Amino acid sequence: MIKHIPDRSLFTPAALRRWDAIEPSIQGKLLGNVWCSACRKAVYINIESAGIERKDLILTGTCAECGGPVARLIEGE
Ligand SMILES: [Zn+2]
Repeated sequence: MIKHIPDRSLFTPAALRRWDAIEPSIQGKLLGNVWCSACRKAVYINIESAGIERKDLILTGTCAECGGPVARLIEGE
């Protein structure tokens, strides 16, 4: 099941501020271009949590295809 729009309640407030600063078209590309080591290709991420570590936005969740764990780091400025 692919969720194109992540659940905002899964984001920390700081992560949500960062996420909202990203254009919606870019958000879609970020969500749909996460490397899954099990599928060995870029997949959609079903977000389970999102937070800020150091200056980077970290999206953590599962692969929309195999359900395995995946994560995406979006570098801060
Ligand atoms: Zn996968």
